[in-house]
Amino acid sequence: MVPENLGRQAERLAGTVQPPREGFETLFMHRDGTRFPVMIYEAPLVDGAGRQTGWMSAMLDLSAQRRVEEMSRQQQERLQATARLATVGEMASLLSHELNQPLAAIASYAAGSLNLMAEPPTPEQQGLLRQAAQRIAEQAERAGRVIKSVHDFVRRREQAHETLRADLLIDAVMPLVRLQARKSGARIEVDLPRPVPRVVCDRTMVEQVLLNLTRNGIQAMETGTPLAQRELLIRVRHVQSRWVSFSVIDHGPGVPADVAARLFTPFFTTREEGMGLGLSLCRTVIEQHGGGLDFENVHDADGRIIGAEFRFTLAAEPQHGPAHPSRARQTDPSAR
Ligand code: ADP
Repeated sequence: MVPENLGRQAERLAGTVQPPREGFETLFMHRDGTRFPVMIYEAPLVDGAGRQTGWMSAMLDLSAQRRVEEMSRQQQERLQATARLATVGEMASLLSHELNQPLAAIASYAAGSLNLMAEPPTPEQQGLLRQAAQRIAEQAERAGRVIKSVHDFVRRREQAHETLRADLLIDAVMPLVRLQARKSGARIEVDLPRPVPRVVCDRTMVEQVLLNLTRNGIQAMETGTPLAQRELLIRVRHVQSRWVSFSVIDHGPGVPADVAARLFTPFFTTREEGMGLGLSLCRTVIEQHGGGLDFENVHDADGRIIGAEFRFTLAAEPQHGPAHPSRARQTDPSAR
């Protein structure tokens, strides 16, 4: 740091480079050798006659600010871990519900096979036995797929940002979304533009956001919405050339004004078993990505509320090469 500071001092005295108005950040060292971050502001010292007679610099110790930032980051991480566990807990109960069916089927095929095996089987019975063994294998595979979808989701923990096609994010959560949808009798529709845009994100975090929003949407339709109208739409759009929006649109009761005001406040919930962390975390995650998350009630032609749309944006993959955006997009190989 010393050569850096000496260099800057020499530049100031030579008058060749003007100091930045917003200051610059560097590291200083205490006498005991510990380093600490500082912000330095420099300005010319001008006398009454307008002559510059020297330089003045002010130094701000940033240690306390950094400590607060670090604490808030850690707190954020803890909250995210808590919400993740809550989702996993919910998933566990869905899982047991979903696994019951193949397990019950396996048990009854096995019982049937044992009955057939009591006597030496006729050729016809042998055919039935083969069929039963096949069904058992199919059901076991189905159960395995259900478990794998949850396992894949929970295991992926890396924090890195990557560029990937928007539909891959949706595909990753779809098995879990479908689990919940089936339980509530809801249908899921996905509407993607062609070519499918690519986004830059930490996929695990964004998948968690999608999962929370779809879960909320499905839950919102569970009580008041007739079965035929329980449809959840996930819509992706390219907005301007720099952003991609993801909307989760339900046909539930919408969000009343008093709830809307507190929707994104941590621990605000109207559900008995709710934690109220979902939306506040979703917004934090999206804002950490530089995007935004908001909602809007959906109205019919007569102005009646017919559902809610939760919408977030992520940065689109930066376009390189040709300046013309539509041509740039055409030449973009949208396969991953
Ligand atoms: P939780 O799901 O644990 O209640 P959230 O932060 O996800 O926590 O949601 C907070 C509240 O926002 C919910 O309790 C509900 O009242 C309201 N809400 C969220 N999503 C919807 C939706 N799609 N439609 C209507 N209300 C919603």
